[in-house]
Amino acid sequence: MISATQETPAVAITTDTVPMRARSANPSTNVTSLHEIMRARDNGLGVRETAALFAASVRQLSERGHNLYGRVLLEGTDAEVMVGSPHEGSERPMIMMASNNYLGLSTHPRCVSAAREAATNYGVGSGSSPLLAGTYPVTKELEAKLAQFKKTDDACVFSTGYSANVGVISAVVGKHDVVIVDRLAHASMVDGAKLSGANVKVFKHSDAEHLDRVLSRCADYGTKLVAIEGIYSMDGDIAPVDEILKVCRKHDAMLLVDEAHSTGVLPGGGAAAYFGLEGQIDLVVGTLSKAIGCCGGFVAGNHDLITYIRYFARSAMFSTAPSPPVMAAASAALDVMQDEPQRREQLWENCRFMHAELKRLGFRVSDEPSPIIPVIIGSMDAMRQMTLELHHNNICVNSVIFPAVAKGSERLRISLTANHSREQLLEALRCLEQAGRNAGVI
Ligand code: PMP
Repeated sequence: MISATQETPAVAITTDTVPMRARSANPSTNVTSLHEIMRARDNGLGVRETAALFAASVRQLSERGHNLYGRVLLEGTDAEVMVGSPHEGSERPMIMMASNNYLGLSTHPRCVSAAREAATNYGVGSGSSPLLAGTYPVTKELEAKLAQFKKTDDACVFSTGYSANVGVISAVVGKHDVVIVDRLAHASMVDGAKLSGANVKVFKHSDAEHLDRVLSRCADYGTKLVAIEGIYSMDGDIAPVDEILKVCRKHDAMLLVDEAHSTGVLPGGGAAAYFGLEGQIDLVVGTLSKAIGCCGGFVAGNHDLITYIRYFARSAMFSTAPSPPVMAAASAALDVMQDEPQRREQLWENCRFMHAELKRLGFRVSDEPSPIIPVIIGSMDAMRQMTLELHHNNICVNSVIFPAVAKGSERLRISLTANHSREQLLEALRCLEQAGRNAGVI
């Protein structure tokens, strides 16, 4: 079975006594976690029964004040956001460390004003899939800028990063082919691989030697596609793109690098540039939703391949094109990135500070600083306690549990932005230290 990480944290059902209200021919009893609910469904519990069970679990969670999902953001996502908690009936400012708005561009005045102007000129919806009714000038402009940014011939946008990976992978490989995904590759790559009908294999995380061995056994397939991330979404580590590309070339395999978390974060535009490999990666996928601060996805590469993808990626062909205001805002964001390099410098300054301080406090964190800092807690109970305490102290962090990450590596996932002030980081550290001590983690 393919394991996939997913950025959106799984819902933690913390009830230890979830009522088993519905049973099927092959039910799983004592459901206590999302994983067990998924397993119950896999084992044949009907969807209505599973949904009822899940709803009861979520209700119990909310009644206990443990449901931190479904917060309402009352302002644009930034370093601090006014947050409504429907389960508590409260509204309060929280330090936001669960958003991927790495450069703080989602509320940047130039991006907002570009969106406003495009809405005035073109309206808010695109009306059709891009190939059928036509494409807007703001979209063409963004695609040209993305290609230039990634030093490729061409680029094609999608409505989301998820649909970019699904559309690209399922367009590029088919039943005679093979896709080899990194064990920690994002769910969208795994889903694209499954949908493609190609043979799917997994190689050990960032292990070029293992990839070499896997590819050695793939000589009989047609197209061979290797799929990795630039910066991994759960661990914040940078992939050894240079080593992986060497192995791909040796076996005549294509390489897809998902630069969702590395675009605009690593110097030069992303992981390919970081390794001096700009223009040499077959397919660079990315999102417009993280450092670019908007919403949408893209793929950049050789002109023929991108043209083929425009016509054959079903998630582009059979879906309405991204809206003109979002395209214009993303285009402005690329300009801001270039004009305000201090944002990326500030982001890394924040990453280094936070990483060093968390380490000094005794937390188990990643080896290297990155805008994604996993704080490994390793126990569901301690993590639940810490997340709740942080929530009550107005710190919003993601908690990530199995099956999104391996059992025993449950973690708080801290996401940093250029807009976090030193005071905000110090306040978050103070609360993390207190919560960590109370939970016995440090
Ligand atoms: N790839 C990776 C590595 C991700 O973390 C995500 C999720 N944020 C996506 C793709 C999907 O991107 P989007 O949110 O734009 O759909």
